[in-house]
Amino acid sequence: MLLRVPYAAPFTALPPLPTSATTLPAAVTAVANFLAHARSTLVLSGAGISVASGLPDYRGPKGTYTLNKEYRPIFFSEFVHGDAARRRYWARSFLGWRGVEGVRPNRGHDAVARLWRGGWVSGVVTQNVDSLHTAADAELPITNLHGLLATIVCLTCRNTFPRTEFQKALRALNPSWARFLDRLREDPDTPVRRNPDGDIDVPGVAYESFRYPPCAVCRANPAYRERIPVDDDGAALPPPQIQHRGSADVHTHAPGVLKPTLVFFGESVAQSVKDEAERRVDEADGVLVLGSSLATYSAWRLVRRAREHGKKIGVVNLGGVRGEEGFWCDEEGKVAARYRLGDGRDGVRLEFDIGEVLEGAVDVLLRTDRRESSRLAAQAM
Ligand SMILES: [Zn+2]
Repeated sequence: MLLRVPYAAPFTALPPLPTSATTLPAAVTAVANFLAHARSTLVLSGAGISVASGLPDYRGPKGTYTLNKEYRPIFFSEFVHGDAARRRYWARSFLGWRGVEGVRPNRGHDAVARLWRGGWVSGVVTQNVDSLHTAADAELPITNLHGLLATIVCLTCRNTFPRTEFQKALRALNPSWARFLDRLREDPDTPVRRNPDGDIDVPGVAYESFRYPPCAVCRANPAYRERIPVDDDGAALPPPQIQHRGSADVHTHAPGVLKPTLVFFGESVAQSVKDEAERRVDEADGVLVLGSSLATYSAWRLVRRAREHGKKIGVVNLGGVRGEEGFWCDEEGKVAARYRLGDGRDGVRLEFDIGEVLEGAVDVLLRTDRRESSRLAAQAM
């Protein structure tokens, strides 16, 4: 089973590879060489690529949790088993949603889309739940490793619908919270902290009073009706507690629990998604990691797999990356000469702004490495 779990230890960053890539033009050349000398490269992206869109990263620039030290993400089991945890989650998510909904793709997302259109990139596997790669180019082949914030799924009947609809339902059930949200919009100085999964913290707020609806499809199913109690407005009431025989645990696992499709911490990544991500790795000659420290195991193991299959690795990330010595070092623990002294074609390790480096690389490649597989060329004809 593959769980999404946070990994808190900071990673030590390595010097740039090739070691000559200390300036932006040198970094651009190295990335262009990396992409030009591969048949196809898979992009693996993390929170770092969305920072320029105004979304927070889990980590500060040096790989530590500097942005919001008190933040502890909700775990899947808490959400599934706890009505109180769900109230707290949806309250924070309700307040944080507008900040996510209004976010636009940045130069980094646009450059990735252009690299795909140009035939250098085969597609994207992303850890991000913000839909920004798709917003940049709806046709870009993408595997959302950790799901999406913008879609709601019922954990019982698997019915899905857009988060914007759910936001309206939450608004209707929580008029005083809606007024509070409107005040937040008008007064940007209110102390709030936005978190990477799209929720926010507001000091001193009673989350227990927040109301959320159960799945309407399940609620209409006579087999479940009794087990999904609701109030007069259709908001979920705390479900009856069930004590399993032989277990001290009290569960409140009710049918019809709605959840964003994003993979919570402590939740397993679906096998079909895992398989698709592995297939994309296996089909590419190289993997280019953008804005990820590979802190989550589900992402790290994909790069390890690429490495084991002899594929090239490239990294553009501010701060260290989990286990990256293993990408570059020989048995004696020294960085291999072909990475240190090469021109980037065998591997790159850079700490530059993703948008700047990739935009530069696109320009170089368009001048020097036109491809038959280019979708840009196909469009122009
Ligand atoms: Zn349902």
